[in-house]
Amino acid sequence: MTEQHPEKVPVGISSCLLGEAVRHDGGHKRNPYILETLGRFFDLQPFCPEVAIGLGVPRPPVRLVQVAGGGVRARGVRDAALDVTEPLEACAQAQHAWHASLCGYILKKNSPSCGAMGVRIHGEDSEPSERTGAGLYAARLMANFPLLPVEDEDRLADPALRENFVRRVYVLRRWREALAAGISARVLTDFHARHKLILMSHAQNDYRALGRVAAGTGDLASRAEAYIQGAMTTLKKPATRGNHVNVLQHIQGYLKRALGREDKAELVAVIARYRSGEVPLSAPIAVLKHHFRNAPDPFIARSWYLDPEPGELALMNG
Ligand code: SF4
Repeated sequence: MTEQHPEKVPVGISSCLLGEAVRHDGGHKRNPYILETLGRFFDLQPFCPEVAIGLGVPRPPVRLVQVAGGGVRARGVRDAALDVTEPLEACAQAQHAWHASLCGYILKKNSPSCGAMGVRIHGEDSEPSERTGAGLYAARLMANFPLLPVEDEDRLADPALRENFVRRVYVLRRWREALAAGISARVLTDFHARHKLILMSHAQNDYRALGRVAAGTGDLASRAEAYIQGAMTTLKKPATRGNHVNVLQHIQGYLKRALGREDKAELVAVIARYRSGEVPLSAPIAVLKHHFRNAPDPFIARSWYLDPEPGELALMNG
């Protein structure tokens, strides 16, 4: 594991994606975008489970095999007697404390150890079946930490998936910071207030239910757990243009008394242009921010929607 960088967001990553020559053939799968762009804001902490279980470099390649009677095992491609199923699962379990410290994890696609989804599963007689599996290390990681944002590296090339991943990473980081500072009823309702507009952009109705959890009564620890589970599940739903328009119009309501007729018409027009896809989301947001500089509002000023963290903003804008 690498040295910690507290100002960056801790994100685990398959070592080969950082250019480490740890693949079975002695090569790597360096991903320049991850290294040079995500690496500016993420503290990328590499780990190779196949090296960690002592397979060495180079090593015989393994693959996922569906065995008779059910179950998927990681076995050697050339020598089926090589079976690293339990070592890979135990390796993920052994990293539990490290995984608990992360705010995201980027995995190497198609790997029988690291792939998050769509990994090919073979039959015992070697015929390939559909790509429906997950690498065994990745599967245990995701089972242990269902709220952790996890993505295969190739999916981060898709702007919508990347934006969603980055958003979840930063929200989880803020949640961890809130927990570290000490959760209280006030902290929980404040966290919800600051994320309400973001949650609205993902699912219009979910934020209300989450608001009831945050403001409810009963055991605080249970409510906090229910809240973050609900929030991270909501954030997995893609933010849509229609939901963003609703959020922008909701924010516009806070300027009801501050805007003259011309300013209001300009704002309505830029939101309409965003709705029709003519301008990016940053255009109406820039206009709104301009107006809130002249007419500040305490709720809007503390919302992460208009003013995300610098890394969050930079990475979400690509
Ligand atoms: S995909 Fe995972 S197991 Fe394979 S070389 Fe990369 S880090 Fe190691």
